[in-house]
Amino acid sequence: MSDHHEIYAIRYATMTGRQPFHNYMVADPHNEGTDLDYFVWLIRGAGGDILVDTGFNQAAAEERKRTLTVNPADALARFGVRPDSIRDVVVTHLHYDHAGNLDRFPAARFHLQDREMSFATGRCMCHAPLRHPFSVEDVTLMVRHVFGTRVVFHDGDGEVAPGVTLHHVGGHSDGLQVVRVETKRGPVVLASDASHYYGNIHRRNPFPIVYNVGAMAEGWARVEKLAGHPDRVIPGHDPMVCELYPRASAAVDAFALHEKPLRSFAA
Ligand SMILES: [Zn+2]
Ligand SMILES: [Zn+2]
Repeated sequence: MSDHHEIYAIRYATMTGRQPFHNYMVADPHNEGTDLDYFVWLIRGAGGDILVDTGFNQAAAEERKRTLTVNPADALARFGVRPDSIRDVVVTHLHYDHAGNLDRFPAARFHLQDREMSFATGRCMCHAPLRHPFSVEDVTLMVRHVFGTRVVFHDGDGEVAPGVTLHHVGGHSDGLQVVRVETKRGPVVLASDASHYYGNIHRRNPFPIVYNVGAMAEGWARVEKLAGHPDRVIPGHDPMVCELYPRASAAVDAFALHEKPLRSFAA
């Protein structure tokens, strides 16, 4: 078997009522007040299943007034994958919507960038706007996993399995990493919050939650280079993903990213 993988975007929550300024830093008539969808991503290959990000739970949804459709761990179960069977979880960064539910994957090791752990436990957390997207409960649980020898640290580029590699880009959060996955249609890059929407990367317009705008801009170029084609970049929160890719389940909102999109972004 080759190192080709299947990838499924699993949508577990949505936020409506957004204005253009919520989604784009620079005012532009092309900007939209698009809904924000929340995903985790399941990578399936010869070496087993790899989960990318763990989403948030009902308590976090209530605290932040978000609507949770289904807990991501339960969504996986509906998709036919037992959460306790997952051995590798990539955490792109430690924001609450990517790093909750860390108690729901008892067999997993968590792949994290050195810089994200430093960022989430260091002096920047003294500042409210930088601290806001993090939950101290999630960060504390990740610290416990460090002490339980369940965290695999990466510094820059790393590998989870053949054909599944990690790449630090920073920008949105200091230790943000993206995931490059070999598939039958070429390498697909799960950009996570390196680009919330297609519009952020296509129009070079930052999402307003950002630690370092320069690193974010460099990150867009890095993501494009890693993917090699605009149709192989998957933004972290764009509802358009659910329209472009075929539905893969009747039981849960899962979409097959290893298949060709319905429309192309190529010029
Ligand atoms: Zn984030
Ligand atoms: Zn996010």
